Amino acid sequence: MWRGRRSERLAALTFDDGPDPRHTPRVLDVLAREGVKATFFLIGRRAAEAAEIARRIAEDGHELGNHTWSHRSLWLCSPRQTEREIVEGHDAIARSAGRPPRFFRAPWGMTNLAVFPVIRRLATPCVFWSVQPEGQRAADPERQVRHVTARVAPGAIVDLHDADGVPGAGARTVLMLPALISSLRRDGYTLAALGDLL
Ligand SMILES: [Zn+2]
Repeated sequence: MWRGRRSERLAALTFDDGPDPRHTPRVLDVLAREGVKATFFLIGRRAAEAAEIARRIAEDGHELGNHTWSHRSLWLCSPRQTEREIVEGHDAIARSAGRPPRFFRAPWGMTNLAVFPVIRRLATPCVFWSVQPEGQRAADPERQVRHVTARVAPGAIVDLHDADGVPGAGARTVLMLPALISSLRRDGYTLAALGDLL
């Protein structure tokens, strides 16, 4: 899935690559203050290392997604390695957060044919995104807000990062998030978790 239904002015904020002990709690603080529910695609290994943050994400009422066990490129994984990355990620997130993830997102959006039978068995549909303000190159916070504001449309799935893949990504997300939320609300968007959008 690349976007949700277009019939309502809803958009979903999604956060990849956490939980991160420095940035994720600050992202959660902003979301709580603003009353926004979002979706977090966690890396299983990081969820196992920061279980209390994974649990807080769930307890704050956000949705959980599986972003594999170790964030390897699934393009380079055999079918057996692919299954292990997905299942171990799923199980680690369920154990750490106290409930299983509802969605799956592949690292960098790169899937292979072995992915689909595994995520079907786990009942976690594969979710991509329609707007990504920072891909594999750093973009400053103001530019990210402008990028999303210019490209958002009803049903948009916005891909953000609450941890570093690109250096500094988590800190930039913390900085841009309040301005992004106000800008989307000014344009009439309600921010929803993925389950409400799809
Ligand atoms: Zn990622």
